[in-house]
Amino acid sequence: MTAAAVPIPAAPRAFTIERDHDLAIVWFDLPGEKVNKFSSTVGLEFSALIDELAAATDIKKIIFASRKPGIFIAGADVSEFTKATNVEEAREYVGFGQQMFQKLARLPQTTVAAIDGACLGGGCEMAISCDWRVITDSPKAQIGLPEVKLGIFPAWGGVTKLPRLIGLPAALDIILNGKSLDGKRAKKAGLVDEVVEPGILLDVATKFAQRGKRKGGTRTKFYVEGNPLARNIIFGKARKAVLAQTHGHYPAPLKAIDVMQYAMGTSVERGLEREAQEVAPLIMGDVAQNLVRLFFLMEDSKKDPFAAKPREVADAGVLGAGVMGGGIAQLIVDKTNADVRMRDINWKAIGGGLKAASKIWKKKVERRRMTRGEMGRKLARITGAVDWSGFQRTDVVIEAVVENVQIKRQVLSEFESLAKPGAIFATNTSTIPITQIAAQAKHPENVAGMHFFNPVDRMPLVEVIRGEKSSDAAMVTIANFARKLGKTVVYCNDGPGFVVNRILGPYMNESGFLLEEGHSIESIDKAMLDFGMPMGPMALLDEVGLDVAAKVGVILAEAFGARMQQRTTVIQKLYDDGRHGKKNERGLYVYEAGKRKGPDASVYKVIGVRSPKEADAKSVVERTILAMINEASLILDEKIVGSAGELDLAMIMGTGFPPFRGGLLRYAESLGLPYILARLDELSTTLGSRFTPNEPLKRFAERDGKFYQTYSRS
Ligand code: NAD
Repeated sequence: MTAAAVPIPAAPRAFTIERDHDLAIVWFDLPGEKVNKFSSTVGLEFSALIDELAAATDIKKIIFASRKPGIFIAGADVSEFTKATNVEEAREYVGFGQQMFQKLARLPQTTVAAIDGACLGGGCEMAISCDWRVITDSPKAQIGLPEVKLGIFPAWGGVTKLPRLIGLPAALDIILNGKSLDGKRAKKAGLVDEVVEPGILLDVATKFAQRGKRKGGTRTKFYVEGNPLARNIIFGKARKAVLAQTHGHYPAPLKAIDVMQYAMGTSVERGLEREAQEVAPLIMGDVAQNLVRLFFLMEDSKKDPFAAKPREVADAGVLGAGVMGGGIAQLIVDKTNADVRMRDINWKAIGGGLKAASKIWKKKVERRRMTRGEMGRKLARITGAVDWSGFQRTDVVIEAVVENVQIKRQVLSEFESLAKPGAIFATNTSTIPITQIAAQAKHPENVAGMHFFNPVDRMPLVEVIRGEKSSDAAMVTIANFARKLGKTVVYCNDGPGFVVNRILGPYMNESGFLLEEGHSIESIDKAMLDFGMPMGPMALLDEVGLDVAAKVGVILAEAFGARMQQRTTVIQKLYDDGRHGKKNERGLYVYEAGKRKGPDASVYKVIGVRSPKEADAKSVVERTILAMINEASLILDEKIVGSAGELDLAMIMGTGFPPFRGGLLRYAESLGLPYILARLDELSTTLGSRFTPNEPLKRFAERDGKFYQTYSRS
């Protein structure tokens, strides 16, 4: 047989057309993928399809729909856009996408996007290039432009076209905040034309197709933005708000504003040109590269590195109704709608846990995200107990009692005596090794760590920690349960403080030293806010609680011996002064009705500082960050975490370490490990042994100066 005779199988097509008289339904179903996305190959196919449709005179109406459940179009293929090797290539990539959607917009037929599922980024830009948009009321049907979260802005026409469709204020809100809206809100904003039940989506889309092309293209008459002066005021305000939020660290929203301002005063074509011109350097920039890496770290964190199957968690219980227990119970009900049993040693504590839970829902009610009735029904799903009734049927129990190994062991033993076979005991301990807690357990294979962060409803990370004998099944069950609760999971091995708290230890300690040297509370915090942390270390101490910080300091010092012996005295002094931070409204800051006000000047007297001085921001950043990098090198070396990427993800999700810097270790690499080593040597001479570089750091610096290559999982 000659080569020419072998039939070459056609590449599976992403789009198929279904005809019904003069109506064509274009189905998008990317072969071999869970989601529909625009890669270059898909783009070429789509572009050719549009050409074909443009020439098909017997077709008068076109509906675009997806065969993927829960997905319309997730957006552009993220793995592609950072592959450009120079600005010119990036510009070409953007230009191609723009032309494809411009061709769509110019089709002679009436076009309708029938959206049942996520319609994001490039998906949304495709939809707004159609005449009409119909969306379903399914919770998965979300439409929006999240590009700024990847360090870029919507440049396949989004920035130019969205304000023309829905008006400037609404477009700014979506583009600058990377928002997506459900059907109801999208309709209110004018982003879609109708919201319907999934069962009638195509029927309603067909009705819209019968209306003919949208008159006058997109809507153009908006009262405020029709006036250039009013427009400038809106843009000025938007710039100010972005700067206040980002401290100037994220260039994409500011560029988006510039382009929008230009595009509103000119033609769509010119707007598109400017989009491509301004977004290309952003694509090549460090911020986008770091944010895209973070996106993939998040994607990787959804996969389990073990073959074991997760067990179903139909029934969960919580032990301890304190700050954490109350928050965890609230989260379980909120995300799974299951009943939760919460046990404590007395009813007063149970009352406290319920109050903590209702406080979180109350905020939702205030923001009109939930009705009072819904809140009441949810709250009723948490039932309290001071005995073990109801715990015989739980699949997973989350232990959040006081941080004391004896008490945790006692609670574990009581649970084991009545638990059903295979029930998992997930401890929320912040610092105690899981192996110690499980030391006397009958089934240590069913014990593992599930470390939430405070406040539970807002902090996205859960560390899932393997004790010496934890089974793979327990690990994946906890991880999957955490994901169901909307959390990002980082798997850790056992060790005091695990990853995040162990790294935060030296950070808090150093900020304590800065304070006791006489630097002002606000200047220390400002330095770290300017670096990009969401909160300064002084405010963080108050948030975590000075009581907790004092305890953690002791535990880490006991665990790590000489290396953590050089400790600041201020945390203990403030704790001894009765300051527990935000929880008792006495800390480094003054509080009024739970709100943080200015720094508390009476702190200085307690710690023996006469007249506080302004700290040198550079030195605050250097000392606190290098202290963390030094500790992180040990954590990697001890394999407490599987890769540098996972450590970076844990720090971003657990402490808010600035995402645009790519994480602690990525930032360290950008500084250069030999430089860090030299600075640590100098700091250890001037400030003391706490800065002595750790052996692994020296090894990495001497070998290739990289954390990432050495410790990448893949
Ligand atoms: P908390 O003091 O607010 O609550 C602990 C609760 O446990 C109290 O209500 C107490 O009555 C109850 N308790 C004590 N003995 C018990 C027993 N035998 N059975 C049932 N309940 C019992 O403490 P918290 O801040 O909620 O911390 C709880 C756990 O979570 C600790 O291990 C802590 O280290 C960890 N943690 C705390 C934070 C934080 O920021 N607070 C963050 C992450 C993890």
